[in-house]
Amino acid sequence: MNFDELNLAPAILEAVREQGYETPTPIQAQAIPAVLAGHDLLAGAQTGTGKTAAFTLPLLQRLSVGAKAKNRFGGVGIRSLVLTPTRELAAQVEESVRVYGKNLSLTSTVVFGGVGMNPQINAMKRGVDILVATPGRLLDLQGQGFLDLSTVEILVLDEADRMLDMGFIHDVKKILALVPKDKQSLLFSATFSDEIRDLASNLLKDPQHIQV
Ligand code: AMP
Repeated sequence: MNFDELNLAPAILEAVREQGYETPTPIQAQAIPAVLAGHDLLAGAQTGTGKTAAFTLPLLQRLSVGAKAKNRFGGVGIRSLVLTPTRELAAQVEESVRVYGKNLSLTSTVVFGGVGMNPQINAMKRGVDILVATPGRLLDLQGQGFLDLSTVEILVLDEADRMLDMGFIHDVKKILALVPKDKQSLLFSATFSDEIRDLASNLLKDPQHIQV
């Protein structure tokens, strides 16, 4: 399998090539076609498998061909929300979005706790195509009236098991209630407890299952 066979736009392939990637990893080879076809996804993958590109590349592809939405502040509507358990992972994922999306005109930002809220509030008002966030700070912004998730088309839960281990289940459920029912959802987890399966069965519609 070659990256050229995955139906990704030349602008995305060019960014991938610049990273020096030659062939898709197993999770990428399976996840990219499934996400491009619009399926929900339940993916079992550890860190280091290339899982970030497995959801970021097709997410960028899908957003690059769609129309922009507006948020209720008159700014850019959030089209994709990626939730991660920690700020380090959130920052890494958003960096990947920037790297792989460098030749596209999509915007992204990251929000997490432990830093000042004002820049994040301004970013939320201006709006962004792709938002990467940790659950707690996202809900703080929501509670203060600065978050509009009504335009989300693709939702990603990255490292869902860690998110639950860290006690974010209630926050995640609150966030799920703020995004539209009609969306594409991707859940990545290294392990599958009953709690994860429960979350997955509530969130995912007829998902494709991938395990690497
Ligand atoms: P991840 O599992 O997403 O944390 O990725 C682990 C590492 O693999 C990162 O440093 C990526 O830059 C790298 N990587 C991702 N996809 C590929 C690929 N297809 N070929 C080579 N390296 C890759």
